[in-house]
Amino acid sequence: MSETIGKIVNFCIRNQKLGCLGGYNPSLLTQELSLIESEMLSCTECEGILRDPQHVDNGYRCKECMMDGEKGKLDETKSRLIGKLSAKCPFKEDGCEWEGTVATFLQHSETCNIIGIPCPYYSYGCNIVKTRKEMEKHEEQFLLIHLKMMKTRIDKIEREVRITGGIEWEIRGIKELVYRGGIQWSSCFYVGLYKFQISFQYEYENDPNYVGALIYLCNGDFDEGLEWPFCGKFTMEIVNKTDPSKSITYKFGTENGKIDAFLRPSNGDNGGFGCTDLASYEDLLLKSFSKDNSIILKVFIEHTPKWKRNYS
Ligand SMILES: [Zn+2]
Ligand SMILES: [Zn+2]
Ligand SMILES: [Zn+2]
Ligand SMILES: [Zn+2]
Repeated sequence: MSETIGKIVNFCIRNQKLGCLGGYNPSLLTQELSLIESEMLSCTECEGILRDPQHVDNGYRCKECMMDGEKGKLDETKSRLIGKLSAKCPFKEDGCEWEGTVATFLQHSETCNIIGIPCPYYSYGCNIVKTRKEMEKHEEQFLLIHLKMMKTRIDKIEREVRITGGIEWEIRGIKELVYRGGIQWSSCFYVGLYKFQISFQYEYENDPNYVGALIYLCNGDFDEGLEWPFCGKFTMEIVNKTDPSKSITYKFGTENGKIDAFLRPSNGDNGGFGCTDLASYEDLLLKSFSKDNSIILKVFIEHTPKWKRNYS
């Protein structure tokens, strides 16, 4: 048996869009409408037979054919009248004997052996049209192809909604602070809707010879509606001012979300998370990091929301 390829009924005369529910194609009717009937029952926009006729200022339009912002009222009498018109399958000549009414046509189109439906993945780029029965086979056979189409789409969305940000922070008076010890705080900043702050510390109980930097989540204006714990990737970098390729970088991630510091901050007292031995005092003072008695700390944050973790 040769493969049946379904034929699409152009539901929408206006723009021939698949699945568009504009006016009915007049070829559905068993009897041609008289000029007066045609005038009464046609859409002023698509010129098909009114589907869900809406009364608007200058006549009638299908629900689908309303202009943006236009208000109408369903004309139930007209709708019933149209629904009762006798209809035949538009593929009678191809062998489908179905006859019924305009109102029952949609139902027929789902079981007809000739009327085609677009592949459910058409919005992902599959242009195949087949009868409902054949479509099941198509979906099985094209599983991998459909998956690839969807992956392409997801990759595109992922690039579009990538949520990244960070801070470039100049910390001044390095020599003095290194000798005196202590903590310095960056200004607060948002990455997406999450609010962060960075601490740079010159003294740490366990590693008295190192400087470190920690990332803190702060109480932000949008915390209520956000996903917690925060998951993401972090990069901290102390810039080597003479040779940026020799900068000190430290990367980490919170993909599993098990770090307390990234739970929703309650009273701004979440602990920080990061690296307590980012660089030794000697490195900072002797190498080319603290020219002009200041260093530049860059922190780069990439949020990976749940849906994205599930797809990568
Ligand atoms: Zn349309
Ligand atoms: Zn219309
Ligand atoms: Zn049919
Ligand atoms: Zn397909």
